[in-house]
Amino acid sequence: MNLPVCDFDGPTLLLFNDIPSLVYLSHIPIFIIAFLLGVIVLRGGYKNLQNWGFFCAMMAFGLWVFLDSVFWAANRPDIIMFVWSLIILIEPLVHIFILYLVYVSVTKNDLPFNQKLLALLIFLPQLLFVPTKYTLSSFVLSDCLPNEVSFAFYSYTIEVIFIFWIALFFIKKFRDIRDEKRRRELRYIATGSLLFLLSFTGGNIYGSITDNWTVGAIGLFGMTILAGFFAYSIVKFHTFNVKVIATQALVAGLIILVGSQLFFTLDIVNVLLVGITWILVTILGLVLIRSVKDEIARKEELQRIAHELEVANEELRKLDNVKTEFLSMASHQLRTPLTAMKGYLSMLIEGSYGEISETVKEILNKVYVVNTRLARLVEEFLNVSRIDAGRVQYNFEETRLEPILKELFDAFVLGAQERGLTLRLALPKQPLPKLPLDTLKVKEVISNLIDNALKYTKAGSVVIKAERKNDQVAVSVEDTGIGITPETMARLFEKFSRSKETAKMEVSGTGLGLYVGKKFVEAHGGTIRAESKGAGQGSRFVVTLPVSVSRKSGAR
Ligand code: ADP
Repeated sequence: MNLPVCDFDGPTLLLFNDIPSLVYLSHIPIFIIAFLLGVIVLRGGYKNLQNWGFFCAMMAFGLWVFLDSVFWAANRPDIIMFVWSLIILIEPLVHIFILYLVYVSVTKNDLPFNQKLLALLIFLPQLLFVPTKYTLSSFVLSDCLPNEVSFAFYSYTIEVIFIFWIALFFIKKFRDIRDEKRRRELRYIATGSLLFLLSFTGGNIYGSITDNWTVGAIGLFGMTILAGFFAYSIVKFHTFNVKVIATQALVAGLIILVGSQLFFTLDIVNVLLVGITWILVTILGLVLIRSVKDEIARKEELQRIAHELEVANEELRKLDNVKTEFLSMASHQLRTPLTAMKGYLSMLIEGSYGEISETVKEILNKVYVVNTRLARLVEEFLNVSRIDAGRVQYNFEETRLEPILKELFDAFVLGAQERGLTLRLALPKQPLPKLPLDTLKVKEVISNLIDNALKYTKAGSVVIKAERKNDQVAVSVEDTGIGITPETMARLFEKFSRSKETAKMEVSGTGLGLYVGKKFVEAHGGTIRAESKGAGQGSRFVVTLPVSVSRKSGAR
């Protein structure tokens, strides 16, 4: 039996006949490109859900384009009806896969089960009704087109639903995501996916309504560009592998091109020349691929390390903040009872609670000294935590330096004598100018220098000297003590820096005094430095303070 066919010649190899050349132009390269893009992106990583989403979307789309070209070429109603049904079935699948791809790309998670179920439920009626007369009711031989009825249009409904779904998803994400890099990525994906689907569905709906499929066919061109754009965004934001694939494609192309020359050459010399060229191209091509792969592996490794470092840094910063907070909290808690103890102790010693024996007084005096040392230690910790948190308050006032130095000298001289050391204060004959100082802070800095000088000197003397030098006043504390080695010198003003020799000497210390001192002096616009000829040669610490400069004030 001879079935009726449409009024033109049937195709060869399913596709090729003299149908309008635009169909060929728009279809054949497009389904090849769609398949290739899908494969390229998938090869970038088989474990990546996003790559799978893109691959499936491109396969569905490529298949759609292929079936559409068969539909245009065929003249047999049975083939046309079959192919057209499949097209109707596959079309919404492209949307479903793109929805999946978009979700995975943005959230980096699989689509939740309930959303998968919802998508399936929306699609199910299409699947059930495609083979029935409710989709394609009959074939109109004069137009060579199937007669589309209700469920043929349901596919457009699904498509529009999915486009809205995707658009709403993007709107929500744009509201939630604040990170600029991720927003840029989102913009790429949103533009690529929505333009792709809108031109796809738009072209088809327009064709169905007007029976003019030219617009839809032109739309297909744009879609490949958009698909490429989309593929680029996936690759750009996630892997470098596209370079390897591009190199592989280039090398494979060259090998095939040069190799095919062999079949067209008969001349033995040419065969030899082409053969050698072919071998060279193959070897060099393989070397090229290898080197590109190596380079990319290195880049990826670098990127990974940079990322890890960033994470580690962030973690360290957090820990450092926690430490500062802890230090500050603990010191505050310790300071209050120490101050109370100091008060009671001095009243006890003075006899405010009744007469006490000399022995008890002596012991109480010792307790008092230890308590003072502890209070200083706590104060030092507090200073460090305030400096680290940028919360030091300065209170600058025009002040004379001499009384401060005298007070400090008086406070230390007895202790020095007890240890057999000479403590001297050398002030200039001319009175020093008034300086803008935070008295408490300056006292703390110089007191620590004198304390250190006495601590780290076994015999000899310590000299405190002040002199004017142009628009600065220099206060120095010089000792004949253990001196400072070049290694210690390099880290002297760092936090917790104590030399090995000091650690052995069994003198108490935290390695914080000089760190705090440097910060305080710098806040006055001054400098602090240490000089020493080396171990056992004594040391000299010099603090310079400007007579009047715009020093930094307020909280620091
Ligand atoms: P601390 O004295 O509490 O250990 P500092 O920050 O005041 O902390 O001093 C840090 C380190 O610098 C000391 O541990 C010591 O090694 C060294 N140092 C400070 N002053 C002197 C000095 N006058 N002579 C020798 N070494 C010193």
